[in-house]
Amino acid sequence: MRGTVELAIAYGAATDVGKQRESNEDSYVARAPLFAVADGMGGARAGEVASRLAVDTLVELCGECEGEPDDVVELLSAAAREGNRRIYEAAEHERARHGMGTTLTAVMLCGTRAATVHIGDSRLYRLRGGQLEQLTQDHSLVAEMVREGRLAADAAVVHPYRSVLSRALGTEPEADIDAQSIDVEVGDVLLLCSDGLSGPVSPEKLRKALGVADPQKAARRLVDEALRRGGPDNVTAVVVRFLEGAQGGRQSVALDDDRRS
Ligand code: CA
Repeated sequence: MRGTVELAIAYGAATDVGKQRESNEDSYVARAPLFAVADGMGGARAGEVASRLAVDTLVELCGECEGEPDDVVELLSAAAREGNRRIYEAAEHERARHGMGTTLTAVMLCGTRAATVHIGDSRLYRLRGGQLEQLTQDHSLVAEMVREGRLAADAAVVHPYRSVLSRALGTEPEADIDAQSIDVEVGDVLLLCSDGLSGPVSPEKLRKALGVADPQKAARRLVDEALRRGGPDNVTAVVVRFLEGAQGGRQSVALDDDRRS
C-alpha cells in the first residue's frame, strides 16, 4: 500500500439470541479488513435471511483494501447497494419474505483510514483517549424526531416505536446509505453493535467494557451485560482494537459462537 501505515489490530466478536427472541436475526462478519453488523427484520425468519445476504454480499465483493481511502469508501458503498438490490429482489420473489430488510453498519480498514457504510439503527462507536464517540446516526423514526427537536433524548430510549426504522437495506429499490472515511490510530477501539446492545446498555458501560485489552473478552462482556439487563433483543458486538506497530500484523480472532463468518 502506497504511503499508508499498517496498524496492527486485534479483534473479537460475540452474538446471542437474547432472552426474549426465538431466533437470532443478527449477522456479522469479523474478518480483517472487513467488519460488519446487520440486524434483520421481517416475519418468518426473513430477517435472518436479509441480514445474512447483506453481510455475505460485502464478504463477496470487498476483498483486500486497495487504492486510496475514497476508492475503498466507494467499493464498500457499491457492495452495500448490491446487498440492497439482492435483498429487495429476494423479497419480491417470495411472498413470505416480502418487506424483509436489515440494518447494516460496516467498516473496511485501509491503513490508518477506515471506510464505513451505515443504514438503520445499528451503531459504530470509536473509543479514543477514554472518550466514547458514536460515529453513526440512527436511522429510526424516534432518532429523527430527537434530531428535529420534537422528542427528548431520554424519552426516545423508552419510546414504544423506538425500533421502527426510517431507513433500511432491502426494503426499497434504492437505499439511502451513509458512507464516510474515518481515521484510526494506535489505542483506538471500534465497536460495531446491534441495538440489542446499545438499547439496554448505557454508553458508560460500553466505554468501560471497551477498555478491556482483549477484544474477544470485551465483546463477550458487552453481550453478557445486555443479557444481564434482560436481553430483550438479539445482541451482537464486534470489537476491533488498534495496536502498536511493534506488534506488527498480529491479529487475534476468537469468535465465540456458531455464527462466525
Ligand atoms: Ca435488533
